[in-house]
Amino acid sequence: MLRSRLFWKLFLGFTLVNLLTGAALVAATWGWQREGARQLVEREVATMAAFLTPAATAWAENPSPETEEAVRSQAAKVGAAIRVRLSDEKQLAIGKTSTGRSDRIQERVNLGPVTKPIGELIVERPDDRLGEVLARLATRYAFFFPFIVLVTLGAGYAVIAHLVSPVQALHKAAIAMASGAYRQRAFVTNRDELGALAGSFNKMSEELGQRLSQLQESDRRQATVLGGMIEGVVAVDDRQRVLFANDAAGRLFDFDPHQVVNRPLLEVVRSHPLHLAVKSAIASRAPQRLEVEWDDRVLSVQVTPLIGEPAGAVIVLHDTTDLRRLENLRRDFVANVSHELKTPLSTIKANAETLLLGAVDDKENRMRFIEGIGVQSERLEALIQDMLTLARIESAQQPFDIAKVNLEKAVESCLHDFKDRAEMKQIDLRAVPPLGIDKVLVRADRNGFRVILSNLVDNAVKYSPDGGAVTVSWAPMTVNGSPMVRIEVADTGGGIPEEKQARVFERFYRVDEARSRDRGGTGLGLSIVKHLTQSFGGDVAVANRAEGGAVFTVTLPAA
Ligand code: ADP
Repeated sequence: MLRSRLFWKLFLGFTLVNLLTGAALVAATWGWQREGARQLVEREVATMAAFLTPAATAWAENPSPETEEAVRSQAAKVGAAIRVRLSDEKQLAIGKTSTGRSDRIQERVNLGPVTKPIGELIVERPDDRLGEVLARLATRYAFFFPFIVLVTLGAGYAVIAHLVSPVQALHKAAIAMASGAYRQRAFVTNRDELGALAGSFNKMSEELGQRLSQLQESDRRQATVLGGMIEGVVAVDDRQRVLFANDAAGRLFDFDPHQVVNRPLLEVVRSHPLHLAVKSAIASRAPQRLEVEWDDRVLSVQVTPLIGEPAGAVIVLHDTTDLRRLENLRRDFVANVSHELKTPLSTIKANAETLLLGAVDDKENRMRFIEGIGVQSERLEALIQDMLTLARIESAQQPFDIAKVNLEKAVESCLHDFKDRAEMKQIDLRAVPPLGIDKVLVRADRNGFRVILSNLVDNAVKYSPDGGAVTVSWAPMTVNGSPMVRIEVADTGGGIPEEKQARVFERFYRVDEARSRDRGGTGLGLSIVKHLTQSFGGDVAVANRAEGGAVFTVTLPAA
C-alpha cells in the first residue's frame, strides 16, 4: 500500500484538504472565542463599576477620609483598580490603571447628575484577565489539534486504502494476464463500482483464457498436421516474408523452421526461380508449378496464392529426387539392356547369315561360326537369367524362405561347384573357417545365399590370374550390438581402383568393359549380390588387399 503512488496522491490530498479545513475552522472559532472572552471581562468590569458607583459618588460629593475609606474597602472587595477624577482636577487612585493602553478593558462612569456630572469613575481589573482566559483557550486548542490531526490521518488511511487496494488487485491481475497467466483472478470484496469492475475483469480474463486455450488447441492440431506432412509447406505474405514453415520444408531447404519467420523468402531460400514463381502467383492470383533443383535434390513446387487476409502464397514442396532417379534408372536400364543384347544378337545374326550365304558347305570354317552362335546364345541366356533374378528380387514376388544357413556347408558346396574351373586356371580355392568355432549360422534364404557366394567366387576366379588363390573366410562379429557374421571372399587379381569401388555394385557397370565381356560377365552379378544381402538385412562392401587383389565383405545377421 505504502508503495502505491495512487495511495499517496489521494492520501496527501485528503490530508491536506482536511488540515486546511481544520485550520480554517480553528481560525474562525478562535475569533469567536476571543470575542466571547472579551465580552465576559467587559461585563465583569461593568458589574464592578456599578457596584462601586455609589461609594465613588459619595467621595466625589464629599472627599473626606471616611468616604475615601469606603471606596477603598469596596474596591478591595471586588479586586478592582480604580481612579476617580473630579472636575476640579482632584482625583483618587486605587491600584494602577493604565491610561495609555488601549487593549485593557475599562469601564468609565460619570458621577453625579447626568446633566451636570461632578466627576468620572474609571474601573479596570488590575490583572491581565483577558490574556489569562485566552491563554487557557489556546492550551485547550493546542491539546486537541494534534489529536484531531491523528484522527484525520487514521481515517484518511482507512478510507483511501479501501479504495486503492482493489485498484491494486486489478493492476496486479492485469499485469499477470499480460504475461500470459490467463487464469489470474482479482480478489476484490468492495460492493461498489470497483467490485463490479473486478467482477467484469475476472469474467473477461476467464473468457480470454478459454479463447486462448481453444486457439492453442487448434494451433497445436494444425502444427501436428503440418509437422507430420512429408511435403514441405511454407506460407509467405504478399511481401514474400515467411509466415510459417513446417519441419519438412526446413529439412528440404536446410533451415530451422522456427527461425525463418518474418524473414524474406529469398534470404531463407536462395532460389531465384522460386522467388519469381511466388511473385507471379501473388501478382496474377493464379497457382504456379515449377521444379527447383536444390543441392542434389529435385523439388516439385506448387505455389498457390492466398487471397484475403493475410494475402500471400502457400508453397508446397515435394521431393521428387527419388522419383527422378528411378525414372533415370529405368531409362538407363532399357538403354543398357538393349546395348547388352545387341552385341551377341548381331554376332549370332552375322554368323547365321554367313552360314546361309554358303559357309555351311565350308567344312573347315563352319564350326567356327556355329560355335560363335553357341557362345553368344549362352551369353544371352546368362544375361536373361541375371535380369530375371534381379527382377524377382526387386519385385519381391518370390518371398524368401529365411532359414539358418550353416556357413561351412554352404561354402564347401559352392567351392565344389567351382573346382573344375579353378583347376583349369591352377587357382587354389580354399575355405578358412574361424578358429575354435565349429558352427557358424546366418539368417538367409538358402538359394539366395548360394547366389551371393557363387557370384563372388565366380568373379574372384574370373579376375584372378592363373596360379592365383581364392579364399573364403568367415567369422562372427557384433555390429551396433547385433550379432552378425562377416564373410570375406579374397582373390589375388588386380583389385578394383578405389574411385570405382562404389560403382561396381551398379547394374551393368564394369571396370573394364572389354575384359569383363571376354570373360563372359554380364555386369549384373554384383548388383544381384547387393540386392540379396540387403534383402537379408545385411550389406556388402569391397576393398583392395594390401598384398594385391580384391576382397568382398558380406555381413549378414547371425542366426
Ligand atoms: P561382371 O559380370 O562383369 O563380372 P559384376 O557385377 O560381377 O559383373 O562385376 C562388376 C565389375 O566389377 C566387373 O566388370 C569387374 O570390372 C569388377 N570386379 C568384380 N569382381 C572383381 C574382382 N574380384 N576383382 C577385380 N574386379 C572385379
